[in-house]
Order: sequence, then structure tokens, then C-alpha cells
Amino acid sequence: MDLQLPARLWRALKQNPKTRRILLPFPQMARRALAWLLVMEVLLLAAGYPFTWVVNSLTDTVAGRPLAYGLSLTAVLMTAVGLTLLLQGVARVAHTVMSNWRNDAAWLFFISINRHGADTQLHLGADWQSTNSTSRKDSVLAKNHKKVDVMIDYFIFDTLPVTLRVAFITTAVYFVNWRFGLLATATFAGYLLWAARTERKLRPLRENYRRDTDRFERSESELSSTASTIHQLGLTEVFIKEHDRHLLAHYRKERLRHRRFRFYLWQQDQLLIVSRGLFLWLAYLAWQDGASLGAIVLAFGWMEIIYANVWRYGEFQHVLNEGAEAMKKLVELFETKPAITAPVRPQWPTRPTGHVRLDDVSFTYPGSDRPALSGINLEVQPGQTVALVGPSGGGKSTLAQLIMHQREPSQGRIVIDGVDLSDIDDPRYRLEYLGIVAQDPGLFDRTVAENIGIMRADSTPGNIESAARRADAHDFIGRLPDGYDTVVGERGVRLSGGQCQRIAIARALRRQPLIYVLDEATSALDAESQQSIMRTLSAMTARREATTFIIAHRFSTIQMADLVVVIDEGRITEVGTHAELMRGNGLYSRLRQLEGLLD
Ligand code: ADP
Repeated sequence: MDLQLPARLWRALKQNPKTRRILLPFPQMARRALAWLLVMEVLLLAAGYPFTWVVNSLTDTVAGRPLAYGLSLTAVLMTAVGLTLLLQGVARVAHTVMSNWRNDAAWLFFISINRHGADTQLHLGADWQSTNSTSRKDSVLAKNHKKVDVMIDYFIFDTLPVTLRVAFITTAVYFVNWRFGLLATATFAGYLLWAARTERKLRPLRENYRRDTDRFERSESELSSTASTIHQLGLTEVFIKEHDRHLLAHYRKERLRHRRFRFYLWQQDQLLIVSRGLFLWLAYLAWQDGASLGAIVLAFGWMEIIYANVWRYGEFQHVLNEGAEAMKKLVELFETKPAITAPVRPQWPTRPTGHVRLDDVSFTYPGSDRPALSGINLEVQPGQTVALVGPSGGGKSTLAQLIMHQREPSQGRIVIDGVDLSDIDDPRYRLEYLGIVAQDPGLFDRTVAENIGIMRADSTPGNIESAARRADAHDFIGRLPDGYDTVVGERGVRLSGGQCQRIAIARALRRQPLIYVLDEATSALDAESQQSIMRTLSAMTARREATTFIIAHRFSTIQMADLVVVIDEGRITEVGTHAELMRGNGLYSRLRQLEGLLD
């Protein structure tokens, strides 16, 4: 395991002020849990002593020797019983206290990884979202995070105590007889060396198996997320066959890995068997050295504890390796740079009105060698409506993404009411400036009212309804089974495309933003929905409440814009009002040309 990983994980967690606060008491809790664990181990070790005393007193009685401290056998027995009860009893108390601290520490860790993971995912932005599959996004947190939790808990409260216990006992048996000490040391060291060898041999198999697991899980997730499409397209058999292939490969690799693992464990176990045999021989030699029977019995009990604990290293190996791999994935996620870097000192416009200026803006997607936008200059006055038009792939969505601060320009700057967008307080910009209606409305699987109301903390049934009315959505919402309390289903599956669009518009309206970014839906909306959405958009823009950017696909939308911006191959080829553009090259040819430019 890469020993840098825990440090990198800890650093990532502490860099987030919110998780740092949660994690603050963690070290103290873990220390307390460990201290109580130590108390428990010492007490359990001492709890073997009364038994030695009883055995020695019995052998003395049989041999007719007086007992130690001049006590009677009954007194020895009663004291030994009392001592055992006391030591075992206090050890149980220590165990309970330790468990409580351990549980608290584990929960803190769980909460902070989860919290930071959710934070990271929400901030990673467009690139991460588009380059990772749903299954990877789901599993990278949920699965790896559980494995890391288990590993850390195992390490602190199993591996470490077992190591301590074995080290304690190994030291203690030296005091009974040096031969036992040597045997314990050799057994422990030999087992660890053997385990390291096993690990070296198993690693490639495990990595191979893990790759296969990933493939299998991706296939599983694809099946569940696209089930209805697969069924609709009649591809059930194709997908099932492919899934079977992954399943079988998964099973074969796991079988091989498991058998090898068990074989190596079996080899490791031989060491313990040999050691157990040797102990009997050494017990005889120790007796010849003059060790008491009680001491030999005590050493036997302790050695058995060593055998039982050393054996567990096989299991630790498995859990720790799994955890280390999971930790690597988590650390990689936590160290991924977000598309937007937060400014050191966020700024805010003195007079927010919705004035937008693009100064020589260029943008190239990471990994691409061709700019998606170059040399864009544009000034938009508050309340103006800008239609972005042009052929598919021209750069309209990229420009919209820059204005929505999903990405930063590679060159040039976007200035919002006099403040550079890269210096602006980003969360506040999203809350107070932006109202977005994307092609895919991306509704939440909640009620209609929640979908609209979630945009502002001061939402009430009244203002939710008024947003819905303005979006021409109130009537159809009234006809839904539970009205505003109807749950819309994942991404709005229980509504039609037009209904989803209208709820998305209502949601944007509820925010009462200074800038709207709207992507006119190209998906086949029925004529009535199209008209209704057009009515809503023109009502929105006519009020001049907000600056509006519309990625326009329809001629009627372009007509209501104050400014039409034609973007082709990443450059603005023309800017002007609809009328000006028409006049430019003669009305008819211009019109034809514009229509040709539309998607
Ligand atoms: P439009 O919205 O006008 O259809 P886009 O802004 O989506 O155009 O695309 C502009 C260019 O950027 C296209 O060449 C497209 O292939 C490219 N592009 C879009 N998204 C990405 C991405 N995530 N990674 C790399 N290139 C992209």
C-alpha cells in the first residue's frame, strides 16, 4: 500500500473548511478509543495470572508443599475467582467505553468523507460529469467510501490491537521462559514475511479481477439506467448476452483469485501448525529448566492467543488491500481540479443590473486542439434579449456555458456589471443572477411545487403558483393527479416533454434572476406546447426584467430578440437586430440564409 495515501486523504478532507470542522474531534476520539483498548488488553493479559496461581497451588498441594504466602487452598481459590471476576469485569467495561468512542470516531469519519465527497462531486463541473459514467459516479463515492471506512476501522481497531496483543504476549512469554519468547517471535515474524510474499503474488490477480469487476458493474448500471430504451429497441437479447459474458468472466477471475488466496493462506497456516508442535517440545525443555507447571500452562494459553490472532493477518491483508485501492480512487476524486477555481477574494458588483460584456473571449475544451470559441466580443445591456443562432457545433452552447460559469474562458474575460466573472462570488452569482432552462430540463424526482420552490428560500405556495402561471404551466399542473403535490419521477419521466419544459421555465422564473440562459428545446414538442412556450418566452423578454440569452432554433424566437448573434465555427460572423440582419443582403436572401443557419 502506498503510505502517502492516508496522508493525502487527510489533507484533502482538512482542506474543506466544513469537513475540517466535522473532523476536529476525530483524533481525540480515536486516541481515547485506543487508550481504552490498551487498558483492556493489559487487563486481559493479567487475567491469565489467577489461573497460573491456582495450577501452581494445586501442584504444590499434590506435592505436599506449603502454598505461597502461607494461604490455604480455599483462600487461594476464592481470591483467584475474585481476581478473575474483577479483571474480566473491568476489561468488559473498558471494552464498552472503547466501543462507544470507536463508534463515534467511525461516524465522524463516515460523515466527513461523505460530506466532502458530495461537495467535490457538485463542484467538479462539466468535464467530470461528461467524462464519467453514471456507474462510476455512483460507485466512486458509495462503494469506495464504504471500503475505506471498513479499512480504517479494521486498521485502528483490529490490526493495530492484534499487533499490540501479539507484541505484548510475545514479550510476556520471554519472562516465562526465553524459549517460548523465541518461538513466539519466530512465529510472528515468519507469518508476516509469508503474508508479504503472498501479497506480492496475489496483487496482479487482484488487479485483474478488479478491472473485471468494474466492467461488470458498468454493464449492470447500463442495464438499469437504460432498461426502457433497451427494451424498446428490441435489444434485450444483445444486452443480456453481453451481460452474461461479463458475469462469467467476473466469476472465473474471482474463482481463480479466491483459490489462489486460500492456497497461500493454507501455506501460511502450516507455519502455525509447526509452531504448535514445537511448543510441546519447548514446554518440556522449560520444565527441565525449572519453570512451574502453572507458568507453562499460562504460556500455553498465551501462545494460543498468538496463534488465533496471527491467523487473522490473512483477513487483514484482504481488507487492507481492498481499502487501499478504494482509498486511491477516493483520493484521486478528491484531488481532481474543478473546472472553476474559486477566487481568493470573491467580488460582487456594486449595482447588479445584468450588464454582460465579453472581451475577446476564446475557449478550447481540455484535450482539444481546436478552439470551440475564438475572439468573441459582445456587449449586452440589462434587459436585452440576445438570440444565439448558427449551425450545429458552431459554439452556441459553449458560449452559454461560459456565461453560466460552468467553464472559464481560456483567453479574454467575461465582465458582469463591471466585475470579471472569474472573480465573482460564484455561489451567489448562481443564486442571484442566473435563471437557466436547459434542453434537458433535469427535473428532480420530487413534487412539482418542490421543483419550482426549491429555487428560493422565500418560496410560498402563492409565489410558486404565480411562477407556474407565468410559465403557462398552472392549468396542466391542476390536471395532474395531485396537482402541485404530484411527484414528477426521475428527470420528470411522468410528464411530457413540453410539461417538463414549462416547469423548468417556472423554476427559472421563481428565481427572479438578472440573467436568463435559455436553450430552446429542439426535441419534438407538440405544436401547442411550442406556442405556449413561445408565449411565455416573449412575455418574459418583453418585460425586460432580465438580460436573456436564448440559444434559438426557431425563426419566431429570433424575431423577438433585440440582438441576433450568428456564431459559426467558434466566431461571431454577424451581430445586429433581426431587422438589420435582414436588410444587410436584401431581405429574402438574408432570410433564406438565416434559416439555413438554424439547426
Ligand atoms: P452548438 O451549441 O453551436 O451546437 P457547441 O458549443 O456544443 O456547439 O460545440 C462547439 C464545438 O465544441 C464543437 O466542435 C463540439 O464538438 C465541441 N465540444 C462541445 N462540447 C465539448 C466537450 N465537452 N469536449 C470537447 N469538445 C466539445
